[in-house]
Amino acid sequence: MHITVIGSGYVGTTIAACFADLGHDVTAIDIDEEIVETLNDGRSPITEPGLENLLEAHAGNRLEATTAYDAVPESDVTFLAIGTPSNDDGSIDLGALEAAAEATGEAVADKDERHLVVIKSTVTPPSIETVLEPAVHRGADENENIGVGMNPEFLREGSAVSDFMHPDKLVFGASSEWGTDRLHAVFEPLLEDHDAHVVETDPQTAAMIKYANNAFLASKISLVNDLGNICKEFDLDAYEVMDAIGIDDRISEQFLRSGVGWGGSCFPKDVNAIIAAAQDEDYEPALLEAAVEVNERQPARMLEFLSKHVDLEGARIAVLGLAFKPKTDDIRNSRAIPVIEELRDQGADVVAYDPVAIEPMRDRFPEIEYTTTAAEALDGSDGAAVVTDWDEFATLDEEFDSMAEPVVVDGRRIVQRQDGITYEGITW
Ligand code: NAD
Repeated sequence: MHITVIGSGYVGTTIAACFADLGHDVTAIDIDEEIVETLNDGRSPITEPGLENLLEAHAGNRLEATTAYDAVPESDVTFLAIGTPSNDDGSIDLGALEAAAEATGEAVADKDERHLVVIKSTVTPPSIETVLEPAVHRGADENENIGVGMNPEFLREGSAVSDFMHPDKLVFGASSEWGTDRLHAVFEPLLEDHDAHVVETDPQTAAMIKYANNAFLASKISLVNDLGNICKEFDLDAYEVMDAIGIDDRISEQFLRSGVGWGGSCFPKDVNAIIAAAQDEDYEPALLEAAVEVNERQPARMLEFLSKHVDLEGARIAVLGLAFKPKTDDIRNSRAIPVIEELRDQGADVVAYDPVAIEPMRDRFPEIEYTTTAAEALDGSDGAAVVTDWDEFATLDEEFDSMAEPVVVDGRRIVQRQDGITYEGITW
């Protein structure tokens, strides 16, 4: 098949490279010329394990990148993987996606064959009917050969390629039988080798499945963090408690690691978006609102434990880990951001380290110091806040010896406790 993927960010680049690897001819479209050039050179615009290998293998043959929509009409299906960032009220900004949906419609307006426009971006159920379907059909001049589908993406940054290639489930949201068939055809090479559950439904339900999925996981972490905070008050180890409750099949052992909270480009945006969409319908989702509130409180707890041992005014504090999770350079909504903001507000000098995410954070906080190793950040520091669970932080040892005050507050239970350092876990 020939597939067009519009938007070459975290999702678009991953799915374009994976579709090419599955044997499809892929055209990746982005408005950013630098991204297009990078892709055509067989390099990855983002840090993601395995992605560069796929791009190197397929760029120039099965995968081509461009800024033009010329290839869209020649393809059988177009995936829209454009960002849907948060507005101030938590709702999502559909502007760029709507523009791309309309431009895609225009590109296929004269087609005599069927063409499916698939929304990959995370969008609220009502916006499909009220904004996106109308944009495609308006652009396509109501050409009845053009259909709109929804295929939400469940990949996680840091393991995006592997998640895409080994999904637990695929959700095909289509309003026609041919739309569902086309989604089956796209994923057939993947399903030949991999036994994923396929959920066939309508586009709105498909969109809701994505929100329900993320809202459930984010709320599970917030619940675990709330329970973890209580454990800490009782001087108990939340991890011992969670290991025990995870034995129960109804709870499962996944997502029970309490810590400094959830971040990234999805959980905060998606939970806030579904809250805003529910409020639009005059429904107040109290539990989801509480999940957000608990999450917002966790970074302040790091400061609370640091200041138990260090006077933050004028102190040099090392922040270890800037990416919102390991194996990615994405800092969107990283918990490091409120931790750094709060440290600066309290008069601390921040020295920050991350193996891959320094440059994006430098744009956000140009005034703080950055180092190229964790050891340099720790050297002479009066305290350390560990925000991301990069593997390398698990082997830190004599690096703590050079701290002026060896106080470590661990937000991810990654550092090995050892003699000579004052160690505080945030829920243990
Ligand atoms: P992103 O910001 O990394 O990438 C979006 C890309 O779209 C950018 O490269 C931008 O230049 C491009 N773009 C914007 N307008 C365009 C246009 N008119 N034509 C062509 N390209 C255009 O976003 P992302 O993280 O890849 O997320 C995309 C969508 O997927 C969002 O709705 C997000 O919620 C959802 N999603 C993301 C993840 C994730 O882990 N990042 C996982 C699942 C779902």
